[in-house]
Amino acid sequence: MVGEKKRLMIAIDGTAGAGKTTIGQMLAQYLDCQYLDTGAMYRAVALLAVRAGLSITDNQTSLTEMARQLDFVARPATPSETADGRQYTVLVAGEDVSQALRDSQVEANVSQVAAIPTVRTELVSQQRALAAQSDCFIMIGRDIGSVVLPQADLKIYLDASLETRAQRRSQQNSGSNAQTLVAQQFITQRDRIDSGRSVSPLVVPAGALYINTDELTKEQVFERIKTAITDLLK
Ligand code: C5P
Repeated sequence: MVGEKKRLMIAIDGTAGAGKTTIGQMLAQYLDCQYLDTGAMYRAVALLAVRAGLSITDNQTSLTEMARQLDFVARPATPSETADGRQYTVLVAGEDVSQALRDSQVEANVSQVAAIPTVRTELVSQQRALAAQSDCFIMIGRDIGSVVLPQADLKIYLDASLETRAQRRSQQNSGSNAQTLVAQQFITQRDRIDSGRSVSPLVVPAGALYINTDELTKEQVFERIKTAITDLLK
């Protein structure tokens, strides 16, 4: 699918719940590319911190060490694993943590973990090393086009209103009004920390294809990106 081009790097950034994972996985399948959701790495460090009972603000050195030693593998889910709707399985030190990464405690702490500059330095270098191993790579996150892979061939920024994003997130759970409200609170808090932090804040990278997904189906978003890729590979 990538044709004559030697390497293809696609960076997908955007706000929480804007559809990055869905679109990234569709693209990875379409292009037969490696895929990495970097949010899972930050979530993995947050999970280890929560399990160790560490306060995020008081233990930056320990958290940085956890990031440095992170034994992280993300691989396509096996047919039996897809029963819970996942397409990828995340292993930390060999343990399947795919569900645990979505825990409310992780959700509540991950942005604070991701705001620690030294944690970011460790994870960014692991992300770059992974990307360097493949000729075709789709990486999603908050700082991929701006910091991790500024040389990416295509940078995409996905966005949507808070209401749409919270609704999508809550539909992944019970979809009740209460769930939507809780999702709104988590997303608002994460948006604020992600956009306001001093290191690698969430920004629309220069030259990015900006797509607001409020009124679009995932197929429509995918079509727009496919067009951009076709133009790129001409
Ligand atoms: O994408 P996801 O919701 O799993 O990301 C969880 C959190 O990880 C984000 O809210 C953000 O704080 C952090 N993150 C980040 N940089 C990335 C990916 C995720 O800061 N590249």
